[in-house]
Amino acid sequence: MVDTQHYRQRLVRLEHQIGARLQRELALGREQVRDVSRDAADESVADEAASEYFIEGELDATILQQVEDALKRLDDGTFGQCTVDGAPIDAKRLDAMPWTPYCLTHEHLLAARAQRPTPTL
Ligand SMILES: [Zn+2]
Repeated sequence: MVDTQHYRQRLVRLEHQIGARLQRELALGREQVRDVSRDAADESVADEAASEYFIEGELDATILQQVEDALKRLDDGTFGQCTVDGAPIDAKRLDAMPWTPYCLTHEHLLAARAQRPTPTL
C-alpha cells in the first residue's frame, strides 16, 4: 500500500519549488535576450547563457508536468503504478522521484527510444 499522504505532501512542495524556479529561469533567460540587443558584442555569450536558462527551464517544465500528472494519479488512486503496464513502481524509485510515471522497465525502454535518432527513409 502506497503512503499517498506522504507523496502528496512531497509532490505539492515540489510543484511550488519547481514552479518558482521555472519562473526565475525563464525571467533570467529573457533578461539575457534583452542584454543582447543592448550590447551586440557579447551576443554569443548572452545567447549561450540565455539558452542555458531556457534549457534548464525546459527540463523543469517537463518535471513540473510530471509532478502535476502524479498529483492527478494520486486523486485517481493509480499513483505508484506504471502508466504503461500498471506494474507497481518500486518504492525506492518513488522516493527518489515521486513524479515518475513509469516502472524501471518502461523508463529504460522509453529513454532508449527517445535517445535513438529518428529513422529517415
Ligand atoms: Zn511499466
